[in-house]
Amino acid sequence: MFKKILIANRGEIALRVIYACREMGIKTVAVYSEADENSLHVRFADEDICIGPARAIDSYLNVPAVISAAEITGADAIHPGYGFLSESAYLAEVCEACHIKFIGPSPQNLRLMGDKARAKRAMRKAGVPVIPGSEGPVETEEKAQKVAKEVGYPVLIKATAGGGGRGMRIVASPAELGHAYRTCQREAEAAFGVRDVYVEKYLESPRHIEFQILGDHHGSVVHLGERECSIQRRHQKLLEESPSPALSDKMRRKMGHIAVEAAEAVQYTNAGTFEFLLDKDGKYYFIEANTRLQVEHGVTELVTGVDIVKEQIRIAAGERLSLKQSEIVFSGHAIECRVNAECPDSFVPCPGIIHVFSVPGGPGIRVDTAAHSECTVSPYYDSMIAKIMAYGHDRQEAIQRMRRTLDLTVIEGIKTSVPMHQRILADPDFCAGRFNTSFMERYLPTPARLATAV
Ligand code: ADP
Repeated sequence: MFKKILIANRGEIALRVIYACREMGIKTVAVYSEADENSLHVRFADEDICIGPARAIDSYLNVPAVISAAEITGADAIHPGYGFLSESAYLAEVCEACHIKFIGPSPQNLRLMGDKARAKRAMRKAGVPVIPGSEGPVETEEKAQKVAKEVGYPVLIKATAGGGGRGMRIVASPAELGHAYRTCQREAEAAFGVRDVYVEKYLESPRHIEFQILGDHHGSVVHLGERECSIQRRHQKLLEESPSPALSDKMRRKMGHIAVEAAEAVQYTNAGTFEFLLDKDGKYYFIEANTRLQVEHGVTELVTGVDIVKEQIRIAAGERLSLKQSEIVFSGHAIECRVNAECPDSFVPCPGIIHVFSVPGGPGIRVDTAAHSECTVSPYYDSMIAKIMAYGHDRQEAIQRMRRTLDLTVIEGIKTSVPMHQRILADPDFCAGRFNTSFMERYLPTPARLATAV
């Protein structure tokens, strides 16, 4: 087992990894930017090392700085958390060359899944249902027109390197395609450095259902059930839960089996998530795989009792998975609300100083956060400041526990998404489990909605 792990991340996820390491008797190294000198991850780790200025590109995304920090401190492994370098095949390769274990999938897996068009092709080959669309990137506007005509409008133009809800455009008719194609290419190049785009059928109001999988280096793969992530705004997740109110046990078994087969087909190792869209007729389609620990992994931990971060560390150290599929038992229901520092109506980030931060605990509540009273929410990084998770014997109890926690939460100094979550949790359709990825439109003051309202 590793003696010392460097955590190439910040915020709540850096703390989450530190907690797992402490429980396993592994020493930790925190890396931090100049903006994060007083952060909790620096305080909680056994060692810390500054890796650069505030801008992520100069610090948390700086591979040479991260590797140097690992070498200086003698860390034998790096946990990348999520975001930043977590899906960087380059970091994984450099780690290999430097004999430092990367706690994540192989560089080959990272490269394959990092290109969404290639990933879809590999999944199609493995017999996994994928959304109809182009076979790979579409190099010309004419080709895009041809594919769109074949699959039927509306279609989605997506960046092969896209992520975080960015790099996609909905196209309703042939007349709009040219402009959308060019804009998507331009945006993809600016945001991800790769201008390749592909075309796929746009499903009207599907549900987003993803399966958590774990694979070891001895050929075993298991799934830990699904997460329902349909409560999104601008294709970004806001609230997640497990299990999904939309899946029967039979569907869960079937989709879980497909996710495991998909992972086996590409010799996937470590933690990963296979994402599917489920349409109104109960048909499901693979959209992409995420090759890292997900923000929302906690809801899966609550319903399975499996510590995913510890499993990741054990897998990277060459150990076998601690559980067989038949030993994974699902019980109860868990919901996560992502608390962001943002204006609840416009979703505009709202960094600043939090003067009071108090989230009550109590039965069934887990709070993953690096925030505290008198801490600063930096404008340089993601606006998520806490993940509040509620567990109950059933969905209703989880909702009740989440509601009382949000009602008693006090965060002063900045605006947060707590009021938005309160609205969601009071919505009769949400409570009845009747929703899809269009759910949040009713709460968004978009020009189109205002126009119809008038
Ligand atoms: P990202 O990597 O940016 O998260 P995804 O491919 O996972 O992108 O898609 C994010 C969200 O965008 C999905 O959860 C879903 O709401 C929407 N979406 C993606 N592909 C489609 C599609 N073909 N049809 C309808 N909605 C889609």
